[in-house]
Amino acid sequence: MNVPKTIKEFVKLEPWWKTPVNTRVVPSEDGVGDIFRMLAEAGKKPFFVVDKALAGQAEFARFFAEKNLFAFDASFSEPRTGDVDALRALIQALPEQPDTLVGVGGGATMDLAKATAICLANPEPAQVYQGYGLDMNKGADIWVLPALTGTGAEITPIAVLRGPEKKLGINNKYTEAEVAVIDPSLARHAPAFNRFYTMMDCYFHHYEIKTSKTSAPEGVEDATLGFALAKQVLSRDLSVYNEENAVISAVASVLGGSSSVSGRVGAAHAISYGLSNSAPHLPHSVAVAISMCALEDVYPDGYGDTMSFLAANGRQKPKAADYGIGEKDVPKMVKTALGMEKLWHSCFGDGWQEKATPEYIEGIYNRIIKER
Ligand SMILES: [Zn+2]
Repeated sequence: MNVPKTIKEFVKLEPWWKTPVNTRVVPSEDGVGDIFRMLAEAGKKPFFVVDKALAGQAEFARFFAEKNLFAFDASFSEPRTGDVDALRALIQALPEQPDTLVGVGGGATMDLAKATAICLANPEPAQVYQGYGLDMNKGADIWVLPALTGTGAEITPIAVLRGPEKKLGINNKYTEAEVAVIDPSLARHAPAFNRFYTMMDCYFHHYEIKTSKTSAPEGVEDATLGFALAKQVLSRDLSVYNEENAVISAVASVLGGSSSVSGRVGAAHAISYGLSNSAPHLPHSVAVAISMCALEDVYPDGYGDTMSFLAANGRQKPKAADYGIGEKDVPKMVKTALGMEKLWHSCFGDGWQEKATPEYIEGIYNRIIKER
């Protein structure tokens, strides 16, 4: 692929993913202007779900002037099922119902918009819908404008939610965006920590899908390209915004979305879910990084890359202890990770049960909690 270096080149890019996706991807050099123009042209009645952290940034001011707006505090946690229920109630109390929910922000904000859109047409509490392919009605249309790319949430039919019992997405065909307007320059003021760790998760997705024993060929193809791009970006210092890095990240992020439709992640994500369940404020991307740091035996090159990305960015290895995780959490984490059967199958292939034993997984968590 001829990888674009500037936003001018990016907007001319032909579709670069192999896995068919339903979302209309619109590369843009004026994302905010374009999404308002397209909404108006399509005669939409939008409701905006916007990351509160964008409130001080001039380029996002148009959203905060809207009446139909919910500003989500995405810095605190991934969206909870209770956030979805509350936002649904707020929208349903409006005098005029919107037909389109527009998510503006990072993965967490887009996921809140996606989950709320589908729940508008499904009456139960959102936690009832955490799962795979449940029979659900189509809700409002979903449009997204990422303010930071890397998660792939702009493409995936998944809205990850933290419920009272588990962290699990609503995985449904009506949870994917109809339109994703992608303007890499909107990541200009994102915090360096978020920029780095979001791309780390992008790398982990591509790495695990590429090495998976159960991914479809087109997923592996998208992941192989995305892997090379994520590695290129993460080998550089990401502490300040740079147009070329932002463009490559946007290209890699869409591939992360498409590859996860036809591919599957593996052991690092399985281990991360145990950590996330025990620490509500541990960001997903950091949880996967902690996991990868303890999986040198399974993913030697993924481990090696992770170490060199941390070094290139002057960052220490992330530690579970910093998020309050310790020995007391091990039994519950082992149980959660063991339940991720599809991910272990993806990692080890047939006969995975002989490798991903409770003792083996406990050993991984014991290594993780000893890092101090
Ligand atoms: Zn991930």
